[in-house]
Amino acid sequence: MSTQYEQSDPTPPSGSGSCLYDLLCSESPRWDRPSDAESASWFIRKERRSLGPQERLERMLEESGNHVCADCGSPDPKWVSLSLGVFICIKCSGVHRSLGSHISKVLSVKLDEWTDDQVDSLANLGGNNVVNSKYEAFLPDNLNKPRPDSSIEERSDYIRRKYEMQQFLEGNEETGCGHQPHHRTSVLTLQITPSHHFSDKKNSEKHSRHRLGHKFRNSWVRKDIDQHKPSKKSSSLAGMVEFVGLVKVNVVKGTNLAVRDMVSSDPYVILSLGQQSVKTRVIKNNLNPVWNESLMLSIPENVPPLKVFVYDKDTFKADDFMGDAEIDIQPLVAAAKAYEKSEIHEPLQLGKWVSNKDNQLISDGTITLTDGKIKQEISIRLQNVERGTLEIELECVPLTQ
Ligand SMILES: [Zn+2]
Repeated sequence: MSTQYEQSDPTPPSGSGSCLYDLLCSESPRWDRPSDAESASWFIRKERRSLGPQERLERMLEESGNHVCADCGSPDPKWVSLSLGVFICIKCSGVHRSLGSHISKVLSVKLDEWTDDQVDSLANLGGNNVVNSKYEAFLPDNLNKPRPDSSIEERSDYIRRKYEMQQFLEGNEETGCGHQPHHRTSVLTLQITPSHHFSDKKNSEKHSRHRLGHKFRNSWVRKDIDQHKPSKKSSSLAGMVEFVGLVKVNVVKGTNLAVRDMVSSDPYVILSLGQQSVKTRVIKNNLNPVWNESLMLSIPENVPPLKVFVYDKDTFKADDFMGDAEIDIQPLVAAAKAYEKSEIHEPLQLGKWVSNKDNQLISDGTITLTDGKIKQEISIRLQNVERGTLEIELECVPLTQ
């Protein structure tokens, strides 16, 4: 069976499979030649049939250049910037994440579930060597790349200059490479200007929502300034925090959400932790949306609360506010630290956030250890809105992962 299957493969446009494999592993970026690109996509199609996405990722990690972090050289990187196409270490991944997913979309090799399309797009970018030959084409002589033990300041500064400000980039006008600076096309997606016409509200809550709106706008403004002064070293220290772990947030579903359009809403969720914000996809015309979407955030040292905001997507006007919630993730982080090296295999309850009439919880938010994973399920009533609940699952991953 399998032999027949192999035989029915189309002949590649040029060269043999093994030559193509060599090409994919080679250090020189040669993706600009159309015949190479066609051959590569043929190779990817062939590989895609025989291996699962996770196996293909593991293979890519074995390729030359992907053994070490693209930014600091730490061995055995377990994280990927999907949008930039590099394998990076956990420390650098925290900095990438604080640049925002419009610049660097970070995924874990092991903890995220990859699709074939995601692995294809990563493979198409060529791996660490190819990407570095573009983003580090003109490194100043007096600049040292960060090392595995570099400080967070050095690391942050270098990564921002490399990808966000693109100071070491090969000529942008070169047509061969195909990928354009990411922020040029995606800056507009940050222009979230939440409207706050729902009016009751404790002032503090209201302020925190305004701050979020501000933060989005500020990060957009800051980027704009950076773009116009590309040679100036960024003075912003925002994002330069050590991270103690990661929280994987599965936004499961919303129930009985508020109506913001004629009879329904187009809801999406923003999660915010410290400086970072990520959002789910929009589900059209649905007051009981099921997202089941996992988003990852780095946990800063002093563990701020996880803020959750629901908005209704509008095309022609500002998105409408549909409620928010705040989740204290400190107990979860503490449990993860305490049980990080635990050998216990039996499911274990480690603690709970008890539901009562004074808080927003619908049921107890139990923290459990199951199969070595520290998780918490949370069912929460949205605040500052007439109605709506949200179900969320949290998983805390210590930095050793
Ligand atoms: Zn690194």
